[in-house]
Amino acid sequence: MTEAIMNGLPPHIAQVLCGHRSLDTTMGYKAIYPAETIEAHRAFIARRRAARPSEEYRTPTEEEWDAFLAHFEKRKVSIGTCGRAFSSPCVHEHACVRCSLLRPDPAQRGRLEEIRDNLVARIAEAEREGWLGEVEGLRVSLAGAEDKLAHMDRRASGGTAIDLGMPRIAPAQNYPGGGNGFADTITG
Ligand code: SF4
Repeated sequence: MTEAIMNGLPPHIAQVLCGHRSLDTTMGYKAIYPAETIEAHRAFIARRRAARPSEEYRTPTEEEWDAFLAHFEKRKVSIGTCGRAFSSPCVHEHACVRCSLLRPDPAQRGRLEEIRDNLVARIAEAEREGWLGEVEGLRVSLAGAEDKLAHMDRRASGGTAIDLGMPRIAPAQNYPGGGNGFADTITG
């Protein structure tokens, strides 16, 4: 079986030839040698390298390296850190309060509260003055500011712990193939 598969016989064909109901049964007869593992890994790396542009495997120039480091400097914004990937554009035109990529800085909580209060006041003013075209956008920003404040609170409290309970062993039963069924009875 091992030799047939290693010489190119597809495992699912070997399964049919052997009359096995499950491919798992067939593969249970297939030995995997260390050399085979190494060869398969090398072949995977070679395929992966062939699929990627060769310029990705060269040493970066000084300018490229500086641009890479500068990217991390430029990710610092007034209310936290922008988490966008290197070389990717800002998706929200620097409206960081609304952006899911912003990691808010707890030290800037006061600034964020000011922004939130200002948005509340601007929504009230827009509604009073009948500037209904602005209200919807301001509400989106307000929801973003409140979400960032809630994020800070969750981090400050160490997150919300979820009690998963303790596994327990079910009463002894007659399981096919023996055992006490422990693997099937881990409950929360
Ligand atoms: S809007 Fe989002 S992507 Fe743009 S700078 Fe702010 S956090 Fe980064």
